[in-house]
Amino acid sequence: MTHPTYPHLLAPLDLGHVTLKNRVLMGSMHVGLEEQFGPLHKLGAYFAARAQGGVGLMVTGGFAPNREGWVKPFAGKLSNRWEVYKHRAITDPVHEAGGRICLQILHAGRYGYHPLAVSASAIKSPISPFKPRQLSVRGIERTIRAFVNCAERAQQAGYDGVEVMGSEGYLINQFICKRTNHRTDSWGGPFDNRCRLPVEIIRRMREAVGPEFLIIYRLSMLDLVEDGSTWEEVVRLGQRIEEAGASLLNTGIGWHEARVPTIVTSVPRAAFTWVTARLRDQVGIPTITSNRINMPDIAEEVLARGDADMVSMARPFLADADWVRKAEADRPDQINTCIACNQACLDHVFENKRASCLVNPLACYEAEWDIQPAQTPQKVAVVGGGPAGLAAACTAAERGHHVTLFEADAEVGGQFNMARKIPGKEEFSETLRYFRVRLHEAGVELKLGHAATASDLGGFDHVLIATGVKPRTPELPGIDHPKVLSYLDVLKKGAPVGEKVAIIGAGGIGFDVAEFLLHPEAASDIDGFLDLWGVDRQIQTAGGLKEPVTHAPKRQITMCQRSEGRLGRRLNKTTGWVHRARIKQEGVEQLAGCTYERIDDAGLHLTVQGAPRVLKVDHIILCAGQLPNRDLAAQVEATGAKVHLIGGAFEAGELDAKRAIRQGTEVAAAI
Ligand code: FAD
Ligand code: NAP
Ligand code: SF4
Repeated sequence: MTHPTYPHLLAPLDLGHVTLKNRVLMGSMHVGLEEQFGPLHKLGAYFAARAQGGVGLMVTGGFAPNREGWVKPFAGKLSNRWEVYKHRAITDPVHEAGGRICLQILHAGRYGYHPLAVSASAIKSPISPFKPRQLSVRGIERTIRAFVNCAERAQQAGYDGVEVMGSEGYLINQFICKRTNHRTDSWGGPFDNRCRLPVEIIRRMREAVGPEFLIIYRLSMLDLVEDGSTWEEVVRLGQRIEEAGASLLNTGIGWHEARVPTIVTSVPRAAFTWVTARLRDQVGIPTITSNRINMPDIAEEVLARGDADMVSMARPFLADADWVRKAEADRPDQINTCIACNQACLDHVFENKRASCLVNPLACYEAEWDIQPAQTPQKVAVVGGGPAGLAAACTAAERGHHVTLFEADAEVGGQFNMARKIPGKEEFSETLRYFRVRLHEAGVELKLGHAATASDLGGFDHVLIATGVKPRTPELPGIDHPKVLSYLDVLKKGAPVGEKVAIIGAGGIGFDVAEFLLHPEAASDIDGFLDLWGVDRQIQTAGGLKEPVTHAPKRQITMCQRSEGRLGRRLNKTTGWVHRARIKQEGVEQLAGCTYERIDDAGLHLTVQGAPRVLKVDHIILCAGQLPNRDLAAQVEATGAKVHLIGGAFEAGELDAKRAIRQGTEVAAAI
C-alpha cells in the first residue's frame, strides 16, 4: 500500500532478484568497532537495531580486501576463512531482525595511514604522512583478485551484497583521476586505461558471485579537487560499471582532501542530489543519492523530484535507529535528528575512538548499554532544561520516575537556543523539537519560566542540578564600559552591535559569534552555498571546482586570543577547518599572543606579540569561556535530597553538548 505522506520514500524497490522494502539505504560509516582484533558482536547488535528500525538496506563500514588496503594498521579486513566466520556475528542478527546488509570493500590506497600503502602512482596525499608505493602490473592484478575474493568471502559470510568503494579519493578513485594516476602503462593515460581497475573489479566480481548477489558501486560523481574526473568521464564510468554488472550506483561527493565542506551542518540539506540527478538519466540501473539528507520530508522531496531511486543516510541512523519506523508511523516529530555536528561520530573515528552520537549516546553501545525501568519509582527534580537536563528528565521519566523539570527561561534548550541562531547551525533546533516531544510523551511535569530555589526542591528524592554555566568575565580595567557585551547579550538578548567589533576569546563560541555577526540572516540556499565554496553546478572543469563567489564582509571583525598559535586550533577535528576557512574568507583579522590592557572610549587597548595596539571598535564581545553555575547544589544538599550535578553545572571546562547529553542520560539511567 502506498504511504500517504512518504509515497516515494517508503515504496519498495525491485532489483530483480531482490526487492528492498523501502528506498532507504543506511550508508557506510566506520564506527571504530570494525578493527581486526576486536569482536564483531557489538557491530552485530548495532546493525540489528537499525534493521529492526526498518531500514531497507544497510552497508557496513569499510573492510579492506587485503593488508595493503587498510585504512590504518590492523583495520577491519575480510580476506580469509577465519574472518568469514567472524562476520557471521553481523549478518546473522541482521537477518534475524528482518534486515539486509552489504559489506563495503574499501581499499584506502594512498589514504592508508601505514607504510604498506599503495596507489596508482607514488604520490603522497596531503592528508597522510605515508608516501604510497606505485602498484606494479602484477600488483594491480593481485588487487583485483583481492577485491573479488573479498566479495566471495562476504557472500560466504551471509552478506546480501557488497559495496565497492570507488569514491572519496580512495584507491579506485586514485586510478581513475589524472591527479593521482601518472602511469604510462595500460593502467594510466587515456580514460579507458584509467577506468580499467573498477571495471575489471566489477566484471570479475559479478562472474564470481553470480547474478543474485547485490553489487553497489560508489561512484565519485563530483571529486571537488583539481584534476578530478570530467563530467563526461563520470558518465562513461557509470555506464561501464553498469555493463560490468553492478546492481546499483551510489553517489560519492568530494575526496577527503577536498577543501569544500560536503557533510557538515552548514551544508544545506540535500545540497548535492542534483549531481546524482544528472547521472540518473544516463544509466539504466537504480541510483542512490546522499549527503545531508536527514529527515523524511527532504528524502521524500528528493525522490519525488526524481533525483535518484534511493537515498543514503549514514549519520541519521546513529542518531536514531528507529528513523524509518517513525516515518512509517507518520511521526517525524519523534525522530532524533542528526544535526551533522560530527562531534561524536567522525571526530571520534579520527581520534581512534569508538563512534557514538552527540544526540544519542547509546549509539554503538547497543550490546553494552540497556536502560532498564526503575525498580522503585521516585520523585525526581531536574533543575535546568539545557541538553543535560533534557536528556536526564526524559530518561528518568521513561524509566518510570515522577519527574519535574524546572527551567528559568520561557523555553527549554539552554545554550542550544543560542547555538541554533548561528547561521549554518539551524539543525540544532531539531534536537530541541525532539526533546520537547519526548518530554511530553514521557509525562515530565514542565515548569517553564521558573528559576528553582532550594525551597522548591524539598520533597524530592533526587535533585539533578543541570543549571549550566555562567560566562567568564575577564578582570580588566574598563570591563564595565558600554562598549563591552557578552555573547549572551548578542545571541540571547539581541543587543545591537556596531560595524567594527573585537571578540575576546577564539573558542567555539568566539567563532560562532563571528559567523553570526558576519551573516545575521541565515543563508541555507544551495546555490549560495555552492557559489561560496566554489562548486560549479555546470561541472565544466575536471573536478567541478570554480572561483568562489565572495561578498564584501558585513562587519570588520578582529578576533583575539591570549595563547600563541593559530586561532581555532582546538576546534573539532573534522569541522574546525570549515570554521577557520570561513573566518579567513570573510577577512576577519586574527590576533594570537594578546595581552589585554584596558577598555575605554577609544576601544580595546592590548599588546600583540609585545607590540601595543588599540582596536578602535564599536563593541568588544566577551567569549572568554565559562564557569559552572552550581550555587544551588550546596543549598539543596542541606535539605537531605540526593543531589547530582550534570552538564555545565558539574564542570564547565571542555564542556560540550556531547558530554552534557551523555552525562544526563547516564545519571538518570542509574537512579
Ligand atoms: P545549559 O545549556 O547552559 O543549560 C542550563 C539551563 O539551566 C539553562 O536553560 C538555564 O536557563 C537553566 N537554569 C539555570 N539556573 C536555573 C534555575 N535555578 N532554575 C531553573 N533553570 C535554571 N556544544 C556543542 O557540543 N556543539 C556545538 O556546536 C555548540 N555550539 C554552541 C554555540 C553557542 C553559540 C553556544 C552558546 C554554545 C554551544 N555549545 C555547543 C555548547 C553547548 O550548548 C553546551 O555545552 C550545553 O548547552 C551545556 O548543556 P547544559 O545542560 O549543561 O547547560
Ligand atoms: P573555549 O572553547 O574554552 O574558549 C574560550 C576562549 O576564551 C579561548 O579562546 C581562551 O583563549 C579565552 N579565554 C579563557 N580565559 C580567558 C580570560 N580569563 N580572559 C580572556 N580570554 C580568556 O570556550 P567557549 O568558546 O566558551 O565554548 C564553550 C564550549 O562550547 C566549548 O568547550 C566548546 O566545546 C562548546 N562549543 C562547541 C562548538 C563547536 O562547534 N563544536 C561551538 C561553540 C561552542 P586564551 O586563553 O588563549 O585567551
Ligand atoms: Fe549526527 Fe552529530 Fe550524531 Fe554524528 S554526532 S550522528 S553528526 S548528530
